[in-house]
Amino acid sequence: MNNLFSLDNKTVLITGASRGIGFLLARGLAQQGAHILVNATTEEHARHAADRLREEGLRADAAAFDVTDSQAVHAAIGRIETDIGAIDVLINNAGIQRRHPFTEFPEQDWDDIIAVNQKAVFIVSQTVARYMVPRRRGKIVNIGSMQSELGRDTITPYAASKGAVKMLTRGMCVELARYNIQVNGIAPGYFKTEMTQALADDPAFTAWLTQRTPAARWGDPQELIGAAVFLAADASSFVNGQLLFVDGGMSAAV
Ligand code: NDP
Repeated sequence: MNNLFSLDNKTVLITGASRGIGFLLARGLAQQGAHILVNATTEEHARHAADRLREEGLRADAAAFDVTDSQAVHAAIGRIETDIGAIDVLINNAGIQRRHPFTEFPEQDWDDIIAVNQKAVFIVSQTVARYMVPRRRGKIVNIGSMQSELGRDTITPYAASKGAVKMLTRGMCVELARYNIQVNGIAPGYFKTEMTQALADDPAFTAWLTQRTPAARWGDPQELIGAAVFLAADASSFVNGQLLFVDGGMSAAV
């Protein structure tokens, strides 16, 4: 059974892995044997995170590029495939958040959110899939959100982008499953990271969250690792197009 969840000899590219959920997933997957390619926008951020993992005895290298820049994505993934080896697993995790009331939402913020959270999932997945298809194997895991299904005040563009992540997951599943490429997603509920710091600092929000979530607490980002290992490993070889909610039951409750 252990082998089902092993990531030994798997090369895993994680976008936005310099901090937050991406970094914790990088460490968690590396602890299962994976060689992690740590992506971030800057060489400095990516290298710093990869160095931290290596200091812990884990296998990691930096792979800096802006996920919204298709030229940079093509060049970086080409270099990885040639110099380091086949990307076995892609985790599309990079994401940004901006909060404004809908009627005041700046157009530039809409464009930025859609570029990182939505269009980049298309660009990076398409680039990696072009290498995976001839190999007839691969895994793509997209990080969605509670807002893949539910709206919330002041974050309508984010919800639109995460709803699109759900349908990118299903669409890619339909086109890639025949090549033995499993495309799935993880929809995290509320986890304390830099992105949610403003919410975590607001006692009224934590009171609401505790009452709204069947598990009655914030999630610890470490609790996302199990789902990521499952969807990256052989254990999920016939799981296709699913969004796995890791949310303390929030999406199951009214
Ligand atoms: P953080 O803000 O902590 O980290 C964001 C990461 O994305 C950083 O590593 C950042 O790299 C990277 N990034 C941002 N823009 C780009 C870009 N253009 N190209 C490459 N990398 C980029 O985010 P979280 O850890 O909170 O969120 C990670 C994912 O999880 C996101 O998709 C988010 O939507 C999702 N999520 C988070 C939840 C939460 O509770 N926190 C809940 C549900 C979903 P850099 O160092 O270069 O800035």
